[in-house]
Amino acid sequence: MARTRSETKNYFIRELGNNSFNDKEEFIKAVKLYNIKTHKHFEVVESYPDIWSVKCKLHTQGCKWKLRACKRKRSGSFDIKKYTGPHTCLDLNITQDHPNLDASLIAQEIQHLIKEQPSTSSSALSTEVVNKLGYTPSYKKKIWIAKQKAIEHVFGDWDRVVDHVEFRRVFWAFDPSTKGFKHCRPVISIDATHLYGKYKGKMMIAMGVDGNNQILPLAFAIVENESYACWSWFLSHVKKHVVKDSEGMCLISDRHAGILKHFINQFNDKFHNSQLKALAYRVGSQNQIRKFNSFMEEIGKINPKARQWLKEHGPKKWTLAHDGGKRYRLLTTNLSEIFNSVLKGTRFLPIAVCVQLTFYRLVHYFDVRHLMGFSAQANGDMYTPHVLAKQAALMSKAGAHSSRDFNRQKGIFEVITQKGKMSK
Ligand SMILES: [Zn+2]
Repeated sequence: MARTRSETKNYFIRELGNNSFNDKEEFIKAVKLYNIKTHKHFEVVESYPDIWSVKCKLHTQGCKWKLRACKRKRSGSFDIKKYTGPHTCLDLNITQDHPNLDASLIAQEIQHLIKEQPSTSSSALSTEVVNKLGYTPSYKKKIWIAKQKAIEHVFGDWDRVVDHVEFRRVFWAFDPSTKGFKHCRPVISIDATHLYGKYKGKMMIAMGVDGNNQILPLAFAIVENESYACWSWFLSHVKKHVVKDSEGMCLISDRHAGILKHFINQFNDKFHNSQLKALAYRVGSQNQIRKFNSFMEEIGKINPKARQWLKEHGPKKWTLAHDGGKRYRLLTTNLSEIFNSVLKGTRFLPIAVCVQLTFYRLVHYFDVRHLMGFSAQANGDMYTPHVLAKQAALMSKAGAHSSRDFNRQKGIFEVITQKGKMSK
């Protein structure tokens, strides 16, 4: 019996839209896309580096569709060797998702989005797949795996560059941040977050606050853990590269308890005394200098060397009592929120991409703030929007007040509020 046109290999090759495939991956992608677009469902029979064969999933119900492709020895291209068509059956079980729409295919379809923005959300990626192929990946894990594959593919080369170098810790800071920080309040806030990617460890960040009360990311690091040693290392680099010679700097951190614990463990490793350990802990948690001194004295009575060791490690670094009260009304809870938005999407990325991404985030940051500053200047504003808003609020409150001068030279007035009298 003569074969009809749709039964032939050549017909199918035309359907695939290409008659030569550079490699196995390219060929598989074309066959998957064809099956997804025509609502067919295939299963793999053989898969070797140089052979790939598939047949219709509904072969038990009589569908004869199958193909076998091989790698050409000389060119390395993939070609169909055997083909049995046509493929006319429809798998009615396929509804929302398509079984041949696997993570590797999704990765290829979303790669361009990942290249633009590695932290593109899973739902946006899912929408892209629906728009392109008409099927919705049914479970989140599939999109998640696809995203990792796409990241690896897009940024893989980047990562290999870094992988040549063995590293324990990485610190980076960008020049505009360092320059900008000179004009900020002398306050630095630090925080850390888990890395869940191939690098186990922590990402640390140091932030300042600008005149408009907005966060200025200053420096970043990837370290092995949140030990006292790592924090010390990070802070010494912040001091060296960001703070430089500025004095009277205040450090804010809700990691104090964690840092203290590590510090005390280090102390205990040296002196092996549970009584001393407990006292040192109390020293570190004191807010009052008087209590701080009395606990230090107690330690000195038990072991003068222990006291000396604590003194040598600079109380400013590990005690609450010695932060100098320079907190400048900043709330750490606020900071960590913004911190998370800066780092959103970076936690799963290869290390070089983390650096790259923080760079682009900062570029964006400076771009937005620059425009803001420019328009404020054009407006003739003396102060930042944050300060102006505060000023306006105080002015409107003061509008209901009246004053009586007593001694203008000495600045003595009586201020009368609506509720009653208030002297100043
Ligand atoms: Zn079939």
